[in-house]
Amino acid sequence: MTKRVHNFCAGPCTLPLSVLEEVRDEFVNYRDEGMSLIEMSHRAKAYDQVHQEAMGLALEVFEVPDDFGVMFIQGGATLQFAMVPLNLLRTGQSGGYVNSGAWGKGAITDATPHGDIYVAWDGADINFARMPQVDEINIEPNTRYLHVTSNETIGGVRMVDWPDVGVPLIADMSSDYMSRAIPWDKFDLVYGGVQKNLGPAGMAIVFIRKSILDDSNKDLARYLRYDIHLDKDSLFNTPPVFTIYLVGKVLKWMKAKGGLSVIEKEAADKAAMVYGVIDKSDGYYSSPIEPEYRSHMNVVFRLSSEELEKKFLAEAEQADLVNLKGHRSVGGCRASIYNALPVESVKALVDFMTEFRDANG
Ligand SMILES: *Cc1c(COP(=O)(O)O)cnc(C)c1O
Repeated sequence: MTKRVHNFCAGPCTLPLSVLEEVRDEFVNYRDEGMSLIEMSHRAKAYDQVHQEAMGLALEVFEVPDDFGVMFIQGGATLQFAMVPLNLLRTGQSGGYVNSGAWGKGAITDATPHGDIYVAWDGADINFARMPQVDEINIEPNTRYLHVTSNETIGGVRMVDWPDVGVPLIADMSSDYMSRAIPWDKFDLVYGGVQKNLGPAGMAIVFIRKSILDDSNKDLARYLRYDIHLDKDSLFNTPPVFTIYLVGKVLKWMKAKGGLSVIEKEAADKAAMVYGVIDKSDGYYSSPIEPEYRSHMNVVFRLSSEELEKKFLAEAEQADLVNLKGHRSVGGCRASIYNALPVESVKALVDFMTEFRDANG
């Protein structure tokens, strides 16, 4: 068998081995079509089946109610930073944004040219060590929505309670997508790139409350319009067929595992294993995030010196535990433990952390 390492990459990242093997087995001759899936028309019957199934599974696995629609849109989460204000902010309306770290800030940067954008809460003063409490969020008059980042991939902080602030929420859920149930009644729109929890890079999945499209901005290039993507079943232009095919398989894998509640529990358990080692290490390992707000997907931690961190990372790699380096903007270590990362990999990590501390204490 091919050697597989324990891959803690922040994205793109580990996918279920069974999915990769399935794709390998049917790659060259897809279901006796005599060609691979990526060589056929995106209007072909065989592809259409893949496309419709993936859309249906996205709605089913994430437990999305009927008043929402789903869209597959290229450009990743980054394009959504612009598409949200372009489509939803009308004259006289503003968008409130929670700055919870690098990605919250990215959303603010890209929304700013496209509307009246303000920062409703800024975590910079507390070094992004937690998410806001509801009474700390300042909502201005005529606010159309509050934009939040459910999980900061680089900082390792997650939103625990979805704030009730009197306006609809919009969430970038890229890095904890479909790893937790959400209260849909509070949201108008949820989006995320798929390359963390759901598949290879190449697109975002966007869920939108259908009724808000009555009043969306239609004065845009066609690809930027939510109403067109929804109306055309995400087949307005050529979709990223290979990505959609894999996402469909990952969603099927999630469903077979028992769905969202099983995955949410497993994510919490996996995270608790790593934080457990950190918290029981007498400060040998430390987390910069307040315990209640620690990410279940991206466990960020430090050792006492950069030198020791370097040694830790080098020896980890020797033990086939790869991609544990923190983001270049913050340093330190980060273990991304997305849905498809096997619990065995988390066990290997916590064993390694314990052994490393014993040997270098
Ligand atoms: C990775 C990530 C993004 C950027 O996603 P792209 O698909 O590369 O555009 C945005 N937000 C969050 C929270 C992310 O983790």
